[in-house]
Amino acid sequence: MASPQKHLATGIIGSAAIYAFTRNIPLTAGFFMGSWAIDLDHVWIFWRETNFSRIFDVKGMINYHSKLRFEQLIKKPFLHLLHFHTIEFLLGVLLLAIYLPSISAPLQGLFIGMLLHIIIDDIGLLKVVSFHKRCHSIIEYNIRKYIFREKTYHDLYP
Ligand SMILES: [Zn+2]
Repeated sequence: MASPQKHLATGIIGSAAIYAFTRNIPLTAGFFMGSWAIDLDHVWIFWRETNFSRIFDVKGMINYHSKLRFEQLIKKPFLHLLHFHTIEFLLGVLLLAIYLPSISAPLQGLFIGMLLHIIIDDIGLLKVVSFHKRCHSIIEYNIRKYIFREKTYHDLYP
């Protein structure tokens, strides 16, 4: 759980390094997108929670996630899942990179950027008490939620 600025900074620095070593623009562009765009699932969560009534409410979305983070860290940690941050999504991008050679370079960059983003998020999560509450797999989330009955945000804050 790193700030958008930290992801943007690592995306710019990483992109510069990748371009310096490879001179490959599609690979570099894919990496840059992957390093920050997977956080768009935060946008999706906000849209879904507000029944798509506040699509352009950027400040509302930031406040929503700040409140969510506060409740997650300070009050009661809850099980959560960000779909773009899962092994299933990552593997999907990797498989597309392997089986679509015509767009393999940007997809390889996207994969590397997403992987770096997730590693940075996890380093941030290791510093806080709720690291174990983020699921890195859709399968893991469903097992923990339905079999082990771990509480989600909606269970704790109906
Ligand atoms: Zn993230």
